[in-house]
Amino acid sequence: MNHGKKKGRPREEDLDFVRREMTSVERLKSGFEQFKKEVYEKKPEVFNQLAEGQSPKIENIIVIGHSRCGGIKALLSIKDNASLGTDFIEDWVKICTPAKEAVNQAHSDLSFEEQCSKLEKEAVKVSLENLKTYPYVKEGLENKTLALYGGYYDFVNGAFETWEA
Ligand SMILES: [Zn+2]
Repeated sequence: MNHGKKKGRPREEDLDFVRREMTSVERLKSGFEQFKKEVYEKKPEVFNQLAEGQSPKIENIIVIGHSRCGGIKALLSIKDNASLGTDFIEDWVKICTPAKEAVNQAHSDLSFEEQCSKLEKEAVKVSLENLKTYPYVKEGLENKTLALYGGYYDFVNGAFETWEA
């Protein structure tokens, strides 16, 4: 996800947020290298089949969430009654408030960490639903010239899952 940029002089907590996300990106990269070496290169038949199965006319959009996401953690950390107007929270995170409510309701028994993981996936689903409201996307899906996928990259456990939206 693109966490965007803010204007003006950065505050220390914002910088911390960015630093944490940078670390996540680094881990995402190294995790992907591992995935490539241990899964992709060991099972070429699976991926060759996928590549051949794709019609060249179809464009694919994939929205990928990831483990230990700083943005998601920030979203889940906000108290329900607190104003979302703080500029600490990026706009893309605010969009996922319905996902937060869903996770809060369904998984109140889980630990904060576990709720974060649920929310990381739930946020992808919200993003996909938002995409479907764009006329271009809606049309593409109807005409089968566009395919929409969700993905979740768990670099803590080295797992990568995708699903068709
Ligand atoms: Zn993130």
